[in-house]
This record gives sequence, structure tokens and C-alpha cells, in this order.
Amino acid sequence: MPRRNDLPLLIAGGGIGGLAAALAVAQTGRTVHVLEKAAQFGEIGAGLQLAPNASHVLARLGVLDAIAQFAVYPRRLMWRDARSGERVTALDLGEKFRARYGHPYVVMHRSDLLDVLLAAARADARIVLEPSRHVLDVEEHGDRVRALCADGSSYDGFAAVAADGLWSRLRKLVHDDGEPVAARYVAYRGTIPVAELWEGAGLEDVTLWTAPGLHFVQYPIRGGQLFNQVAVFTSARYHPDNEDWAKPDELDARFAVGCDAVRAGIARIGRDRYWTMYDREPIAQWSRGRLVLLGDAAHPMLQYMAQGACQALEDGVVLADALAAHDDPAHAFTAYRDRRSLRTARVQYSARLFGEIWHAGDVGATLRDTMLAARPDDDFSHSDWLYGWRP
Ligand SMILES: Cc1cc2nc3c(=O)[nH]c(=O)nc-3n(C[C@H](O)[C@H](O)[C@H](O)COP(=O)(O)OP(=O)(O)OC[C@H]3O[C@@H](n4cnc5c(N)ncnc54)[C@H](O)[C@@H]3O)c2cc1C
Repeated sequence: MPRRNDLPLLIAGGGIGGLAAALAVAQTGRTVHVLEKAAQFGEIGAGLQLAPNASHVLARLGVLDAIAQFAVYPRRLMWRDARSGERVTALDLGEKFRARYGHPYVVMHRSDLLDVLLAAARADARIVLEPSRHVLDVEEHGDRVRALCADGSSYDGFAAVAADGLWSRLRKLVHDDGEPVAARYVAYRGTIPVAELWEGAGLEDVTLWTAPGLHFVQYPIRGGQLFNQVAVFTSARYHPDNEDWAKPDELDARFAVGCDAVRAGIARIGRDRYWTMYDREPIAQWSRGRLVLLGDAAHPMLQYMAQGACQALEDGVVLADALAAHDDPAHAFTAYRDRRSLRTARVQYSARLFGEIWHAGDVGATLRDTMLAARPDDDFSHSDWLYGWRP
């Protein structure tokens, strides 16, 4: 029988969170098996914003230079009124920002990030990547775990990580709180080659356009070759049991209030698919025995702070540090949870609050705009807690 330390850490899910955790844990000398449900490791969707708290983790994983060829470093986060086009406020991402947080704000294609993480994982002999492994269950047997997959295969490890995303099957082995919470908002998203852009499309900034009950985000990715767009709105036709809502005709109708720049973007956004927005209430129980949650499986959040993947990256390095510091995985998982759960809960709740603020109407919107009007672009006091975090 192999000694416990000869067994790998099993990670169910090879998304951004699972791969980052694999790299971080392997860098501490342990072997890791990543079991991914899909036939190929890959990402769905387009753009991803990575704030300095995530860039810091990417630097520690040794991949920050590798992402530079795909990254765009925006000048500002620019918030505009979607109807009038007027500026609401902005956050300067230039020299002062970089000096304060030590790392840049990066936007990129999420599949480019995944490819970089994959290449780093493939280059590390301690990491085994197994596609087409749909983990159905994780059993605990004394000082080891066994992951059982849909194809009949099974894997033994000294402990297991559920990095299986928003619809995590393994989460209920740790904490069964039912289905994710539907936010009644949907997102349409897609990219356009920059060569096909219309005049006035903002290529230097991440631009957020808001109006009551909707918002629209635009930024360049893939080294400036593609323009990413995400249009989000709440549907008047929403019903949990009914698929007939948030169709493209409603997208067009809702964004008809937009200024020329917004309508130009909406006319070019992908319509073949939309994503319903979900999150969950934060939980205190992140592990049971030798199984622990990570990323969206632990703390799915609305995307309004652009932090879901950033938090999954943070999880990975904290988990690696905890496993390196404690022989007993149960103790390591408690230390990891203690370091992570209040922070991720704060981001989860803040994301909900951001949604309320972005989508406010009437007096709420006027109050918001009035309060933000005097805010200097280099006031970082509200982002320090988020972007300044270090493992
Ligand atoms: C519209 C939108 C915009 C967003 N924008 C941003 C942003 O700008 N910045 C940011 O930081 N975050 C953003 N996010 C959030 C971010 O996408 C997620 O938080 C992040 O992808 C979570 O990573 P993860 O690895 O935990 O889960 P996932 O990316 O969901 O990966 C889970 C993996 O597990 C696999 N899997 C699932 N079940 C099993 C199983 N049983 N066995 C084996 N494998 C399994 C899946 O195939 C998948 O590969 C956004 C989200 C949305 C919806």
C-alpha cells in the first residue's frame, strides 16, 4: 500500500480554479490529479477581468509573463449612463494604480488564460490531467479518498478538492443547500474582431454602461484583436419554470433606451445563447473530512465585481499553503476556510449590492450619480480591501 504522502491530491474540475489550485499545490512538491468532466479542457464565454489580487496570484504561479502576449491593460474602468452616454465615474488603472497594488489590472479572453494555465500544468511532471472524467462521488476510506467517475474509473488520493463550478455535484457531499439562487438577470455575451468595430467604440477602457434594470460592459481582449461585450438585463417575462424569457427580442427592446454607442454594440452582440445569472448565500462549512470546496463550487457570486475567477485563483494558493503547513488535510482545510470564507462572503454580498447600485432607477440613480460625481478617478479607498489582498 502506498504511504499517504505518495497519493496525489485529487481535484475534480479543470476550470480556472481547479488548474490554479493544481499548479499551486504541485509547486509545494505534491502530486496532483485533475479530473475534468469535459472531453477537453476548455472555457465557455469570452472576456475575463483580472484585478491585481488575481495578477498577484498569477505572478506567484509563474504565468504572469506568459499571459502578457494575450493580455490587455486597460487605462480606466469607465462608468457611463447607458441612456445619455454621460460619464458617472471612473477608476484610473495607470501608474498610480499599479504602484499601489503592485500588479496590473488585466483583461483577456478566458480561454487564453485557461490555455496558459494548462500549458504550465502540462509542463509540471507532478500534475496529471485527466479529461473525460466526470466525478460522481468521493468516498472516504481511512486516510485516503476515492473519486468515482461516470465511466467506471476510480482514483485514490490523500484528499480531494471539489472545483466543479456553479453546478457542483460534489458540494452537496459537504453542504447541501439546494440549487443556486437565480438572480432573474441574463447575460448575452460575445466578441467582435476589432477590425469590424464601429467609430467611437472604446478600445482603451473597460466601459460599463448602466440604466435601470440593465447594464452593458465592453473591453478589448486577446492583445487588442477582439472586442468583448456583455449585455445584462432583468426580464419582465421571467418565470422559473418557463424557458420563454430573455429572448433576443427582449434584449433589443430593453436596450432600445440606450444611446447610439450602446445600441451600436447591442446590434453586434451574439444572440445564439444567453446565460442566466446565479449565486448562493455564503456558507461556513467548506469541507467534510478529506473533501473541500474551491472556486464557484464554494462561493458562486454574481459577476458584478468581476471577481469569481479572481477569488478562485486566490483560493488555490491559500489551499496550497494550508496543505503545506498541515499534515492532516482536515486541519489544512479548516485553516484554508478560516482564511477564505469571510473574504469570499464579502465579495458575494458586495456583488449583489453592486448589482442593486448599477441597476437603480429614479431617485436611487440620481443619488448614486450625485454622490459619485465628486469622486476623483484616483480614489482607491474603496478598492483597497479587494485589490490589495495578498495570500
Ligand atoms: C457573464 C459572466 C462574466 C464573468 N466575468 C468575470 C470576470 O470578469 N472576472 C472574474 O474573475 N470572474 C468572472 N466571472 C466568474 C467566473 O467565470 C467564475 O467565477 C469562474 O469561472 C469559476 O471558476 P471555477 O474553476 O470555480 O469553475 P468553472 O469555471 O465552472 O470550472 C468548473 C470545471 O469543472 C468541470 N466539472 C463540473 N462538474 C464536474 C464533475 N462532476 N467532475 C469533473 N469535472 C467537473 C467543468 O467542466 C469545468 O471545467 C464571470 C461569470 C459570468 C457568468
